[in-house]
Amino acid sequence: MSYNFKIEKTTAPKAKPADESKLGFGKIFTDHMFVMNYDEGQGWHDGRIVPYGPLALDPSSMVFHYAQELFEGLKAYRVADGSIQLFRPQKNIERMNNTCDRLCVPRIDPDLALEAIKAVVDVDKDWVPHSDGTSLYIRPFIIATDAFLGVHASHSYIFCIILSPVGSYYANGMDPVKIYIEREYVRCVKGGTGMAKAGGNYAASLIGQEKADKMGYAQVLWLDGVERKYIDEVGAMNVFFVIDDVVITPTLEDGNILPGVTRASCIEVLKANGYKVEERKLSVDEVKEAYKAGKLTESFGTGTAAVISPVGEYIDGDEHLVINDSKIGPVAQFLYDELTGIQWGKKEDKLNWIVKVN
Ligand SMILES: *Cc1c(COP(=O)(O)O)cnc(C)c1O
Repeated sequence: MSYNFKIEKTTAPKAKPADESKLGFGKIFTDHMFVMNYDEGQGWHDGRIVPYGPLALDPSSMVFHYAQELFEGLKAYRVADGSIQLFRPQKNIERMNNTCDRLCVPRIDPDLALEAIKAVVDVDKDWVPHSDGTSLYIRPFIIATDAFLGVHASHSYIFCIILSPVGSYYANGMDPVKIYIEREYVRCVKGGTGMAKAGGNYAASLIGQEKADKMGYAQVLWLDGVERKYIDEVGAMNVFFVIDDVVITPTLEDGNILPGVTRASCIEVLKANGYKVEERKLSVDEVKEAYKAGKLTESFGTGTAAVISPVGEYIDGDEHLVINDSKIGPVAQFLYDELTGIQWGKKEDKLNWIVKVN
């Protein structure tokens, strides 16, 4: 289907970053963005591509006061023949609409959302970097724009997609991280918004991340908000453990965990390759027992930004669990090679995960 989005090209294109080794993450933005409005009675309308720039919003806009906001994150990859491709974008769109339901935001037609992503990436395709491991990060988001201080679901919204060329996450190789187990604060509670990709979840988790930063640890491991003993996830990543040759990741059943596209892809790739995988509740105590018995051989986080992030150490108060000598384990390495191979078009896309932009 063709949506014929109106395209207004910038008259002042920016210089593209000359040194792709210094891209980092989320600091540079491309020349254009996609914008679409929602108004009650009209639905989503006026999808358009315009020059990247500030949004003019009334200071009373609801998003500023009650955090009715949600986002997504995915990447576009440049493959060897120069064409650009996306990795399972339909999964991000499906998750975005699930988040919309939870936050009382009107859904966006999945075909329209996919065409919008493809269209804006295509307009800025020269911004997709070329070096190994680099990509174009795609950040769709929705904000509530009613100029009103009463608390209700907004009647108007803006859907926007911005693009940021990002560097290789592992410029110096895959480096195992140290993770701090948070016992004081929780990220979400049962019945809350744990499974929604909502900015508000991040606002609530910053305090844990600051604690971890101060102690010199990379990220926080969040526990369940009810019993405070089951593992939920790490910062912006889902988490996996290898115990006795079984790959275990916390179940999504309780609705506390963000259903990562990388998480789902890892599970599928592992199962297709004969690994034993379990999605179930996993307590910190069980992990510690396995560690003491020498059965915990690996742990790693999964997410779009890093793909796979091996965990070298967990810290719980005075206890330190050093995993696999703080080195990358075979399961993490296998998953990293498989997923990045498919994403950058170096491995066969057997599961039909790739969507071409052009
Ligand atoms: C986005 C996100 C993830 C990872 O999801 P991917 O789709 O794999 O990028 C994990 N946890 C949280 C809290 C997130 O926001």
